[in-house]
Amino acid sequence: MGILYLQSSIEYVKGIGTEKANLLKKHLNIHTCEDLLNYFPFRYVDKSKIYKINQIGTSSAEIQVKGKIISLKETIFNKKNRLTGIFEDSTGRLELIWFNVTNWLIKSIPLHEKVILFGKVNTFNGKFTMAHPEIEKINDARLSPIALEPVYSSSEKIQKRGVNQRFLKKSIKEILFAIEDQMEENLSQDILLNYKLISRKKAYHQIHFPNSYVDLQQAEYRLKFEEMFFFQLGFGLQKIHRQRINLGNPFTNVGHNFNQFYNFHLPFKLTNAQKKVFKEIRKDLSRNIQMNRLLQGDVGSGKTMVALLSMLLAMDNGFQACMIAPTEILAVQHYKSILELVNGMNVSVHLLTGSTSTSERKLIHKELLSGKIHILVGTHALLEEKVQFKNLGLAIIDEQHRFGVEQRSRLWNKNSIPPHILIMTATPIPRTLAMSYYSDLDVSVIDELPSGRKEIKTFHKTDSNRLSVFGFLKNEIKKGRQVYFVYPLIEESETLNYKYLMDGYESIIRDFPMPDYQISIIHGKMKATDKEYEMQRFVNNQTQIMIATTVIEVGVNVPNASVMVIESAERFGLSQLHQLRGRVGRGAAQSYCILMTKSELSNDAQKRIDTMCQTNDGFRISEVDLELRGPGNILGTQQSGTIDFKKTDLIHDKVIVSLSKSCVDNLLQEDPELKLEKNNPIKNFFLKYHRNKVKWSKIS
Ligand code: ADP
Ligand code: MG
Repeated sequence: MGILYLQSSIEYVKGIGTEKANLLKKHLNIHTCEDLLNYFPFRYVDKSKIYKINQIGTSSAEIQVKGKIISLKETIFNKKNRLTGIFEDSTGRLELIWFNVTNWLIKSIPLHEKVILFGKVNTFNGKFTMAHPEIEKINDARLSPIALEPVYSSSEKIQKRGVNQRFLKKSIKEILFAIEDQMEENLSQDILLNYKLISRKKAYHQIHFPNSYVDLQQAEYRLKFEEMFFFQLGFGLQKIHRQRINLGNPFTNVGHNFNQFYNFHLPFKLTNAQKKVFKEIRKDLSRNIQMNRLLQGDVGSGKTMVALLSMLLAMDNGFQACMIAPTEILAVQHYKSILELVNGMNVSVHLLTGSTSTSERKLIHKELLSGKIHILVGTHALLEEKVQFKNLGLAIIDEQHRFGVEQRSRLWNKNSIPPHILIMTATPIPRTLAMSYYSDLDVSVIDELPSGRKEIKTFHKTDSNRLSVFGFLKNEIKKGRQVYFVYPLIEESETLNYKYLMDGYESIIRDFPMPDYQISIIHGKMKATDKEYEMQRFVNNQTQIMIATTVIEVGVNVPNASVMVIESAERFGLSQLHQLRGRVGRGAAQSYCILMTKSELSNDAQKRIDTMCQTNDGFRISEVDLELRGPGNILGTQQSGTIDFKKTDLIHDKVIVSLSKSCVDNLLQEDPELKLEKNNPIKNFFLKYHRNKVKWSKIS
């Protein structure tokens, strides 16, 4: 046997050999010593206690018993082979059972020998049984006296050919000792000390062979920390790199447009949070580095105003700005409210969506190129290649936290020096996700609502309460308020959506008859102009009730609407519910959200509804959402691959994620190029394992 290195192929490890090495490669994707060391136990069993049979309770935990197997019998049950056995110790008997009987299995069971069995005990017909117990002969000296025994995942197929728990444990032990000197530390002494981390070497020993739960915790903490640390370091270095190569246009002037607006057109006082966030943005914009900022602020927190102020700043510096909204309705609304806000100023604002006419579009293309248009508001239509600007300086993306790197890069190409980018979202992203998926963005948070807003009251009702709900709505309408009814969009079936909505519409019309009540309706099958017409009637308070599918989900702003009724609320995800609820509570009146559901709910649905009734805090809601759905579903499947961590669980390891993030931030603040001697271990490891993440040559 030659010298073992971390990268040595596993067949060189003592006791593995070619045949088992091939099994490991083929079935477990383990090729090198390092791979095997990184094959962590998927669970541990506590083998510190041995039970007597008369101590076994009714709980079905996994336990150990010591004694002998005194008989084995093959039987046929429902045409299937089964093996049963009797095990006894000094206090009683236990039935053993195996399904899937093979000769190999029968041969491997020691009869009349002292053994320790390990397994889950079930009670069946008043008898204790243990299915498929793990059997250990007592004269097999245990590898070491262990309290927690690692369990590695493997399959029966390869176990039969010798790749069993015992083999895996032995091989890992072998490697741990053979390559001990090569287990170099990859964090600095400072970091180990500050974050109370055990050494890398120790962590690998303890993750495989912990002597106690404390050992195990230390090892998990260390290895997860390391995993997140290098992930975030990659992003951090990337950001530094990007800032060096991606020059941005500095907006140094605060000029006529901004001042005129701020002094004479601002319809209200900015909240402190709006001021704080705008200051952060201004600071970014004033540098000659491209801004990439995520602005998070709960629904109604006033992000649009921050966007407008930023766009005026772009204008004052001779640049154009654009704003992209996810739906046509929202784009139209932004367009109108901006028009109104800058009324009387010399600001040219245009709208570009899928329904813009060809002639209009041509004009817009022309005026964008000549620089006549200052601000362009629109939908994704704006991303098309044909849409070219004279000098786009700032792009604002509203309500799309899934606007990924690829889409962002399409905007970058719209100018030789890429425009500054501001992404705004009211769907708060859980901190851990933001720290991983959005590590390359800077984040600003508006954490305050304009004053005078009352907390929205949320109630859960079922169909049996419908009469009283309608009574309540009539009362609100009598007070001059307006009401939304929202129906779920079911992805599979457009026709079904339409049916649900229409059924709802008919029943509402019956209870809210003309001419006392006027009703608007908006759904996916309508033409854009018709939707727009219906929306406008509601905005003008010509209709009191708006019946809609989720097209109104984001951004729609009708301050006089004070009740949101969500039908089949159990069908909505949490972030959608929160978004929908945010359509009310925008004026001075007390607002309400009523979640209508069927009476029987799944656990998850119940949890969503309860969460909505308990809190208005978007961040709290996003955390529950993350717990219920997992990161992949929140970010969308395309992106989930990038946050697939081997060790860290973004839901349960929040603390580790944020500790390692602040650790990386501090490190890069002090030593952005990892030039300090003390950071050599970090740099070396990064270069070895993560080099492809960053164009390192351009950094150092
Ligand atoms: P969102 O952050 O959800 O996009 P909007 O920008 O649509 O919120 O703002 C919601 C409402 O609050 C709008 O009617 C807007 O005019 C109003 N608003 C924004 N900022 C303030 C403020 N500082 N004081 C009072 N009202 C404000
Ligand atoms: Mg908005």
